[in-house]
Amino acid sequence: MNTVSQHEGAAPFVLIDQDDEPPSCISSFFGAANELTSAPATAPGAKRVMRMTPRIRAFRRVFFPEATDAQWSDWHWQLRNRIHTLDQLRLMVNLTTEELVALQQTSGMLPAAITPHYMGLVSAHDPDQAIRRMVIPTVYELRRCPGEADDPLGEEGQSPVHGLIHRYPDRVLLLATDFCSTYCRYCTRSRVVGQGDLTPSRERLGAAFAYIASHPEIRDVLLSGGDPLTLPDEQLEWILASLRAIPHIEVIRIGTKVPAVLPQRVTPQLARMLRKYHPLWMSLHFSHPDECCYETTRAAGMLADAGIPLGSQTVLLKGVNDSVGTMKALMHGVMKMRVKPYYLYQCDPISGSQHFRTTVAKGVEIIRGLRGHTSGYAVPTYVIDAPGGGGKIPIAPDYVTARDGTDLVLSNYAGGTFRYPDTATS
Ligand code: SF4
Repeated sequence: MNTVSQHEGAAPFVLIDQDDEPPSCISSFFGAANELTSAPATAPGAKRVMRMTPRIRAFRRVFFPEATDAQWSDWHWQLRNRIHTLDQLRLMVNLTTEELVALQQTSGMLPAAITPHYMGLVSAHDPDQAIRRMVIPTVYELRRCPGEADDPLGEEGQSPVHGLIHRYPDRVLLLATDFCSTYCRYCTRSRVVGQGDLTPSRERLGAAFAYIASHPEIRDVLLSGGDPLTLPDEQLEWILASLRAIPHIEVIRIGTKVPAVLPQRVTPQLARMLRKYHPLWMSLHFSHPDECCYETTRAAGMLADAGIPLGSQTVLLKGVNDSVGTMKALMHGVMKMRVKPYYLYQCDPISGSQHFRTTVAKGVEIIRGLRGHTSGYAVPTYVIDAPGGGGKIPIAPDYVTARDGTDLVLSNYAGGTFRYPDTATS
């Protein structure tokens, strides 16, 4: 029998009795024979030991020794215990001067906040570690370089209602909240995220619903933010139900980084609630293969089991994932979680992002290193979100090298030359 109990009035913690066969996603989280602890294999009637990624477990032992399994697994606890002050970070990480100076900055920057779960993946000693670079600010964010802008995608100019962006003819982007559990230092929306201006109030969102209802050409709504999955179930359900009540809305999508940074948020209750609002799709934000850990695999599994088609979104980041090997490992990692690699974004020229941006040639090189070298399912579409609000423009290696009469001369993934007789008449 599965016992579901409430802790701290929050998300349920599932205790699995020995006799029961738990759902696959739960059993992978609460390993029966946990290689990570010295706890004995489950005795009759005993609770199973929670399965955790080894380095996260080690981090928890040192910095949150008092936290119980129930607390650690509770997304509210994770949010309450986010690491966000200089003193906390100084205790956990050997900060560099570049990081210290940035953390002493009190205004004009995207806030810093990291869930204990994600902090467990951060290297204490290596300032160049990919995960660390993505969440601990550095002075380089304070530099403004030519071509950069606070709102490079021109979202403000395409917002008929505060927090609603109507760029494409048949779909809109609705920013449900500006809150995130963990702030990515390269965030495209750092001008608004974490500022407390985009609240999920009924008044603001009601105005957005009214706009959508009055535009029958809108058939698809992407819920983003901030991170919509940081909202309580009831609030998120109110948003989904309000959108579903609009007859011309065919598809709802949610963009989130929660499975990577706050996987505890994905509970059986959340999955049950979400599945009521199909067709519901999700884009999960992943940046590095280290994010594909036990806890995240479990979270993605629950969403997939709820019938939600999952796609990944990744920003190409210098020193984080800008090599064929790392990107291939990430794409394989998300596929193993039943997430289809969807978009690879060229990093937007937001203010203070130069240290994260690669050349476009690097992105093309990565796609060339994936296409044909691994399954087509593992190859995302590489896009530039055009500055000024032009939308996503796909960028791809050119495999057509010449036209010779009616023949197209093609180069395959391995560099071989082939011809296609392009003789059909249109
Ligand atoms: S999760 Fe998304 S919205 Fe939040 S800080 Fe990261 S990139 Fe920005």
